[in-house]
Amino acid sequence: MAEESDIRVKRESWLTKEKRPIVIAGPCSAETEDQMIETARRLKASTKSDIFRAGIWKPRTRPGSFEGVGAKGLPWLQKVKEVTGFPVTTEVAKALHVELCLEFGVDILWIGARTTVNPFAVQEIADALRGVDIPVLVKNPINPDLALWNGAIARLRKAGLSELGAIHRGFSNLGEKYYRNRPQWSIAIEFMRLNPELPMLCDPSHICGRRDILQDVGQKAMDLGYDGLMIESHIDPDNAWSDAKQQITPEVFGAMITDMKLRHDYQDNMRLQSKLEQMREVIDHIDEEIINLLANRMSIARDIGAYKKENNMTIYQDKRWNKIIKHSKDQAKKSGLSEEFIINYINAVHNESIDQQGKVMKNGIKKES
Ligand code: PEP
Ligand code: MN
Repeated sequence: MAEESDIRVKRESWLTKEKRPIVIAGPCSAETEDQMIETARRLKASTKSDIFRAGIWKPRTRPGSFEGVGAKGLPWLQKVKEVTGFPVTTEVAKALHVELCLEFGVDILWIGARTTVNPFAVQEIADALRGVDIPVLVKNPINPDLALWNGAIARLRKAGLSELGAIHRGFSNLGEKYYRNRPQWSIAIEFMRLNPELPMLCDPSHICGRRDILQDVGQKAMDLGYDGLMIESHIDPDNAWSDAKQQITPEVFGAMITDMKLRHDYQDNMRLQSKLEQMREVIDHIDEEIINLLANRMSIARDIGAYKKENNMTIYQDKRWNKIIKHSKDQAKKSGLSEEFIINYINAVHNESIDQQGKVMKNGIKKES
């Protein structure tokens, strides 16, 4: 064992904390050799990226979509490396992918969101990597489950991998329209708090799913103190074989990074500022959840309104209201909140509820469009 480590050449550490931000760019998918080389050359010319990405095996939500070129794309990644000097990275989802990547000299591996959710798959990858010294980035799982994300990191660590990092690519959410995958920043922030030694990259491309808000999301990540970005870039974005709506040309990518305020541009108190920002993010997230809960509550209130109407009952019912007040006072005491605040709050909620029930009594329940 000792002999083996003595002869091992120490390679450069790609995810080192010294160079920030770490910028990874490249197409969603490897399509052809020419597309790969041209994208890489133009990204090199932008001088704004450090590492080249391209998906070789693509986990697609629906069958029939382009599922990647497969192993024949690996020599193209090698060529990108030769021509541009970029270290290269691709997604692995099973042991066979790992073996092929190691054979073809891929520098960094990443585990995709659809794989992080599956402990069997992550374990298979970790086992295939046992005894190998290669950096691995772990994307957050599709669903907002911090434990799964941490669990994937723990499996890789247990297999002896020392150079790990995380990528925040947002979480899928039924009914979400603005983002393709809702960022839920507080989850990534909590991940950073629990794993302060791991670099955290943001993937605005998969969070946004569209070009017009990429810059804002990337900037937000920088403001929150992320260590880097992964951005999809294609020479002809509209005609990309996957994720066409979110890809940008290498030149647009270059301009976007140039326009961003990166962390080292900020004053010395940036770290403090960023801590404050992080705590505010958590509060914003909680407020958002409270409002969602209130909306759920009101929707039940409307159903109650319809029920009361059907059964000729009055909206306001004394006994019920006194019970709510008593219960809320008890809750206030238990939670260390002032009774006055809780009574004000419950009054406001109750008024809104009566209002909504009244509307249902008058107009009936309206189907939401
Ligand atoms: C990708 O990076 O192209 C990809 C498939 O990402 P995710 O796993 O985040 O969906
Ligand atoms: Mn993609």
